[in-house]
Amino acid sequence: MSPKDLHEASYYRKLDAKKTECELCFRRCVIDDGAVGACLARTNISGILYTLTYGSPVAVYVDPLEKAPFLHVYPGSDALSLGTASCNLRCKNCINWHFAFKAPGEIESVSMSPETVVQTALDRNINSICFTYNEPTVQYEYMYDIAAAAKAENMTVTLHSNGMMSPEPLEALLPLVDAVVVDLKTFDDLLYRELTGGELAPVLQTLQNVRKKAWLEIVCLLIPTVSDNLEDIKAMCLWISENLGQEVPVHFSRFFPSAKLTQLPPTSVNLLEQACEIAENAGLDYVYINNVSGHDKTNTYCPACAERIIYRRGLFIQENKIEGNNCSFCGHKIAGIW
Ligand code: SF4
Repeated sequence: MSPKDLHEASYYRKLDAKKTECELCFRRCVIDDGAVGACLARTNISGILYTLTYGSPVAVYVDPLEKAPFLHVYPGSDALSLGTASCNLRCKNCINWHFAFKAPGEIESVSMSPETVVQTALDRNINSICFTYNEPTVQYEYMYDIAAAAKAENMTVTLHSNGMMSPEPLEALLPLVDAVVVDLKTFDDLLYRELTGGELAPVLQTLQNVRKKAWLEIVCLLIPTVSDNLEDIKAMCLWISENLGQEVPVHFSRFFPSAKLTQLPPTSVNLLEQACEIAENAGLDYVYINNVSGHDKTNTYCPACAERIIYRRGLFIQENKIEGNNCSFCGHKIAGIW
């Protein structure tokens, strides 16, 4: 592709006439002329850094917001959900490795301008956009322009992130974003590096930054024998409660064998239930189990009167007893975007 077909990257600096440093995520890749960054989504051409994902999603679907999973954002509504090739992590358990580990151009994509994405949603009476499937950071400029176009139409903008975006681009993006799901894959930094290639500290910083500016939900995937240490889970829940507040929903997600971890069994429901108990003892109000259809912990209960206020079956809402922003049984304000 020639530079005239590409979109210049937003966050980078020139180290000399031809060498650049990408500042978009924690990796801070130094990229030589003609090379690409660790995510494979940014290339340096003659000292200018370009994004390779702009306008080229590889996955565009209509999904319930519950799939992200957002359980406290407009229950029962759909989002036009999209992702691109590539990712800045290499998680051993990645379920979307077939495009997240690929460079843009290595996998079939569709051509969609930001305006086309927004119009595609509006044509289907969908009022939300969700950046998901791969890490949205690697499509930052595209995501930003779609989010701006969506906000001009008064739409809801959401994303699911691994939390590794640098603070400055995140700060610039958040005014256009209503809600973010962030993965907190473990509370052990060494394990974070081993399992994902990422680090714990940038994720904790992202969680705190998102919490100040947008609605936040957290996903913790529990992988048997890997990220199932109950003491780590307890430390993580206490940190969330003390630093982010008890109203942030936490989803303990069930692992299924995938990618490089096909030898492991699925997470036991018993372990997920133990994690929920730990989280509730740490003071968290909204604790869920994800990927176990029909489990009672997929429902929402009022933290004040303990009545069931949202009854779900799979990703679908069977009953919603929230009126305005409040529990219809006792009037307690339920945190979220209703
Ligand atoms: S976005 Fe890609 S190129 Fe930029 S620092 Fe992160 S991994 Fe490296």
